[in-house]
Amino acid sequence: MLSAEITAKRLEEWLAKHGRRFPWRRVKDPYRIMVVEFLLQRTRAETIERVYDEVFRRFPDVESLATAEITDIKDIFSRLGLLYRAMRLINIARDVLKNYGGYIPSTIEELLRLKGIGVYMASAILNFGHGIPTPVVDKNVMRVANRLWGETRESNIRKFIEELYKHSNHRAVAYALIDLGSLICREKPRCSECPLNDVCPKLPLLKEKWRMQRKVIIVGGKVILKEQPVTRICKIK
Ligand code: SF4
Repeated sequence: MLSAEITAKRLEEWLAKHGRRFPWRRVKDPYRIMVVEFLLQRTRAETIERVYDEVFRRFPDVESLATAEITDIKDIFSRLGLLYRAMRLINIARDVLKNYGGYIPSTIEELLRLKGIGVYMASAILNFGHGIPTPVVDKNVMRVANRLWGETRESNIRKFIEELYKHSNHRAVAYALIDLGSLICREKPRCSECPLNDVCPKLPLLKEKWRMQRKVIIVGGKVILKEQPVTRICKIK
C-alpha cells in the first residue's frame, strides 16, 4: 500500500488539476459551509451553484437567516425543490443565534446537538469552515475506501483519512476524496483517470448495505461511530 504521505500528495495534486471549483470551496466561513452543506444533502451541487450568490446576498449571516420567515426564503427553496426543508434551516440558525450567540459551534459535540445536523454535515463544517482536520465521509468516499483500502466501515475509513491529513492540507484531501468518488471511482470506475491507479488493488466493490445501528460517541473531540451491521444484503462484481 502506498504511504499515507504519497497518497495525500497525489490526491492534492489531482484536486488542483481536476477537482470541481464550486464557489463555497473558496471560502472558509462556517456559516456559509453550514448552509451549503444543508442544501447539498438533498440537491446536486450544480443546482446549488446557481442560487449560491443570491442566498448569501439575502442572508449574509446567521442573524439574517434566523430572523427570516418562511415566506422570505420560500422562492429560493421552491426553485430547489426543498420548500419542505426551509423551516428546518431557519430553525438551525435560530438555535445557533440563541444558544451560541450567532457563532457556528466549533466542536462536534455542539454541532450534533443542533437539530438537523448529522455527522457528515458537522464534519464538513469543522473541516471546511473552521479549518479543523476532520474526516468528511459520504457515500462516494466510502466507495473509494472500499476499493482502495478494502474498508466498508465508516469508523475505520475515518482513521485512514486521519492518517492522510497528517501529511497534507486536510481541506484539499477531503475535497479530493469527495470528487474522486463522485467523478472517477463511480459504480463503474474510470481507473485510467485515477491518480491512485498504479497502486490501487481495485478490490471488488462490496455493495454491502449495512443496516447500521449507529451510535455516535465523542471521545476527546473525536467521533467514534459504533456500527453494528445487521444484514449484509448483496455483493456485486
Ligand atoms: S484505481 Fe479505480 S478502483 Fe482504485 S480508487 Fe481509482 S478509480 Fe477507484
